[in-house]
Amino acid sequence: MVIKFYNTLSRKKEIFKPVENKKVRMYSCGPTVYDYIHIGNLRAYVFSDILRKYLEYSGYTVKKIVNITDVGHLTQEEIEYGIDKMEKAAKRENKDVWDIAEFYTEAFKKDCERMNIKEAYKLPRATEHIKEMIKLVEKLIEKKYAYVSNGSVYFDVHKFKNYGKLSGNTIEKLEAGKGGRVKHNPDKKSQLDFALWIKDKNHIMKWKSPWSVGYPGWHLECSAMSMKYLGETIDIHTGGEDNIFPHHESEIAQSEAANGKKFVKYWMHVRHLLVEGEKMSKSLGNFYTLQDLIDKGHSPKAVRYLMMSAHYRKPLNFTMEGLENSKITLDRMLEFMEKLGEVDGKKNPKVKDLIENVKNEFKEAMNDDLNTPIALSAIHDFISKINKLIDEKNVCKDDAKKINKIMQDFDKILGVLKIDKIKVPKEIKELLHKRKLARKNKDFKKSDNIREKIRNLGWEVQDTEKGQKLIKRI
Ligand SMILES: [Zn+2]
Repeated sequence: MVIKFYNTLSRKKEIFKPVENKKVRMYSCGPTVYDYIHIGNLRAYVFSDILRKYLEYSGYTVKKIVNITDVGHLTQEEIEYGIDKMEKAAKRENKDVWDIAEFYTEAFKKDCERMNIKEAYKLPRATEHIKEMIKLVEKLIEKKYAYVSNGSVYFDVHKFKNYGKLSGNTIEKLEAGKGGRVKHNPDKKSQLDFALWIKDKNHIMKWKSPWSVGYPGWHLECSAMSMKYLGETIDIHTGGEDNIFPHHESEIAQSEAANGKKFVKYWMHVRHLLVEGEKMSKSLGNFYTLQDLIDKGHSPKAVRYLMMSAHYRKPLNFTMEGLENSKITLDRMLEFMEKLGEVDGKKNPKVKDLIENVKNEFKEAMNDDLNTPIALSAIHDFISKINKLIDEKNVCKDDAKKINKIMQDFDKILGVLKIDKIKVPKEIKELLHKRKLARKNKDFKKSDNIREKIRNLGWEVQDTEKGQKLIKRI
């Protein structure tokens, strides 16, 4: 079976074949560390995690790099008007800009961990690669793709004949569509040229360069770090759809102009996320970070499941109802896993066929441009068929182990079947203990009162054969 991915560059699905057999070099655009990432960003990281894990499941080794943008994330407009995201955050929080970068880098790592996103090979920081970026700019100047003007350096888009090939833009179209919001910059030959180095001796983060004291352009860091850690041609580059232009378009121009080689074989982009049918925005009150959802009692696994329930190239409508339904579905899956440990029926040849089928269906769906919703529905179909066989006492212990194994294999990619470790507060633990004693003394009125108290604190107690079971309510 071959794996096919949709390539933004060719606008079609292509058979995946890495440069080097069974080795995949992958780069994912990481966060700008001036604030917590929101769930729209998170969708892109969950996607790249599923992609990486599926390739590993299919026998590839994957070297994945995720950059940390801690300087220079400015759109052209922001450069002209001097708004810097990092500087703004430092003012907002009354902190040093380096502390801001450190704090939100750690917050990003924590979010990834909670979402069960496997750590990248490296998370290089832009500020630690200024030397590499300067070298790349020097190479572009030498090759006449870039020019120095008044201490800043710009990429000459007219020199790069394929400019626009990723986004479908052409220089003519861009010239015609230039908005009135961008201030005319007399230093540039064409207003479409983008900055590689920005002269600014007053900038909050600045370095010496052969041209001036200043800081690097945002697009430059991804080209420089991708080349440093993964080489001149890489297999996969991922990002959100909003990265296509100008960010990825400019990465291609810089990298291919410098090396004279193809920069990326497969460009993969995730569509945006809507919340309750609307674009997420702070002013609409529908803007969420992962922590916001956890504070509302939702589990990161349910968030991850919800993200997988839509194909990555389709917009995802994120709703609280959808999140609750994801939790219910996950609980059902976990119940199924628990039940497998208790079966003791007779052997039935159907089980083997069902395992074989679900494995093939899962792979077929994932091989087709990572179609997670179809892969998930194959798994649910399998679960309900096996459940029926379990009820009929038609699953033996040995087969239950095989079913468990295939589910664990799927979960290497899905990453949702391990229960989140939720810390139980001391107060709840004490109440549980008191309730246990009350039940022992057959004081059921007291035991019910305590259950009500626990419920009011956001937890549910269930009495099972093995004793009291505690569930966090959402
Ligand atoms: Zn990038």
